Amino acid sequence: MVRSLIFIAKLAVVVAAAVWLAYQPSRVSIEIFGYQIDTTVGILILAVFLITLAAVLIHRYWRLLAGAPGSIGRVLRENRRRRGYKALTQGMVAVAAGDPDEARRWARKAEVLMDEPPLTLLLSAQAAQLAGDDQAARRYFEAMLEREETRFMGLRGCLMQALRRGDTDAALDYAQQAHDLRPKTPWVLTAMVELSEQTGDLTAAELAVRQAVRHKALPPPEGERKRAVITLERASAARAAGDAEQALKLAREAHKLAPGLVPATVLLAELLTADGRRGKAGRVLQRAWPDQPHPDLARLYKGLDPETGALAQVGRMAELVAGAPDHPESQLTRAETALDAQLWGEARRHLAKAAGKTPGERVCRLMARLEESEHGDGAKARAWLLRAGRAPRDPAWVCGSCGALAGRWSAHCGACKTFDSVTWRPPVQVGPEARPADGAGRPEAELPALEILPRNGNGGGRALAQGRPGAPPPAATGQRG
Ligand SMILES: [Zn+2]
Repeated sequence: MVRSLIFIAKLAVVVAAAVWLAYQPSRVSIEIFGYQIDTTVGILILAVFLITLAAVLIHRYWRLLAGAPGSIGRVLRENRRRRGYKALTQGMVAVAAGDPDEARRWARKAEVLMDEPPLTLLLSAQAAQLAGDDQAARRYFEAMLEREETRFMGLRGCLMQALRRGDTDAALDYAQQAHDLRPKTPWVLTAMVELSEQTGDLTAAELAVRQAVRHKALPPPEGERKRAVITLERASAARAAGDAEQALKLAREAHKLAPGLVPATVLLAELLTADGRRGKAGRVLQRAWPDQPHPDLARLYKGLDPETGALAQVGRMAELVAGAPDHPESQLTRAETALDAQLWGEARRHLAKAAGKTPGERVCRLMARLEESEHGDGAKARAWLLRAGRAPRDPAWVCGSCGALAGRWSAHCGACKTFDSVTWRPPVQVGPEARPADGAGRPEAELPALEILPRNGNGGGRALAQGRPGAPPPAATGQRG
C-alpha cells in the first residue's frame, strides 16, 4: 500500500515535470543524420529521459537472460548431489542391515549421481563384499589404493580380501604398507603380529609384538606370552643348530616370560641337564610345577636321578609336587611312583584323590595295573580297562583353533597352522566317540561298578565289582607286595 502510494507520487512528479517542460516556450532545432528536428526544450528532455529508461531496462533483461543457463545448471547439480547423498546414506543403511541386493542398488545409484569416488568406492566395495562378490570387492578396494584419501581404507579392504583367499604373503605386504602410513593403528599392529607369526618370521613377529604392546593394541600379559613362545622357538632353533649356549640363554628368557609354558620349562631343564647342572634343572622343575603340573615335568624330574631306586623316587616325587599337592596331576604322579615302588595302599589313596567323583582315563588304566599287580585279578583289571575306554578323556595337547590333538606341543598347530593355539587341556568329546562322564549310552547294569578304595574301613580292602557275584575279596591294602 505504502509502496503503491510512493509510486503514484513519483509518477505524478514525473508527469508534472513533463507537462511543465512541454509547455516551455524555448524551442530547439537539431539536425541528425540529415533530418531537421524542431521541437521545444521540454519535449527534447522528455525524449532523452525515455530513451535512457528504455536502454536501462533492455540492459537489465539482457543480463537476466544471459545468466539463466548457469543458474538453472546450478539448481540441477545441487538437486543431483542431494539425491546422490541420499542414495549413499540408504546404501550404508543397507550394508549395516546386511541386505546385499539393496546395498548394491543404492551403491550403483550413488556412483551415477555423485562424482565423489572416495565416498562411493567404499560403499560399492562393501556392497560387493556383502553379496559375496570377492572379485568386484577387490577391484573397488584396489581402486581405493590409487587415491591418497582412501588409500588406508583400501589397504584394510585388500588385507581382508587376501586373508579370505588364504594369501598370507599378500596380506602381510598390505599390512606393512598400512603400517608405513599409520604405525600406531591397533588393527594394523595386531595384523602385523598375527601375520608375521604365521609366516614364521620370528624377528619380525617379536618386533611387531613389542610395538603392539607399546601402542596398547595387545594387553601386556598376552604380549609376554607371545614373546615367550617366539623366544622358545628361537631357543629350539639354536639348539638344533648346535649353539647350546644361545639356546640356554633363550630358553631361560622364555621360561621367565611365561613360567606356565611347559615346553619352555622342559627345554630349559633338558639344556641344564645336558650341561651337567642337574640340581639346577631339578629346582627349575619344582618351581614350575604349581604353575602347570604336567607329566612331562614329572618324567624329566624322575630322569634326573635314574640310579635312584623305586622307593627313594617316592620321596623325590613328593618333593616335586609339594607346590601343588592336591592337583590331580600331582596325585597321579605320586600314584604312579607308588605303583612302581609296589606301595599298593599309597597308590590306591592317591588314585582315589585324583579320581574325585568321576575317574578319568588315566586313573582307570592305573587302577587296572594296580588290581593286576596287587591281586593278579585279571577280571577286575579288564573291567577297569573297559571303564577307561568310556571315561572322560585326560588332558592332552589340543589346538584351541581347530580342536586337533597333537602328540607333542608345537608353536604352530600341525593341522591349521595357527600360532600358539596348542594348549594342555581335556579334548572336546563329540560325535559317536563321545564318552560322557556318567557312562551314559550304555545301560548302567552292564557296567561293572568299580571302587577304588575299600568300601568298609576295616582294612579288608573290598573293592567291589558288581555283576560278578562271588568275586574273591582282595587282600589288605597299603602293603608292599
Ligand atoms: Zn589347529
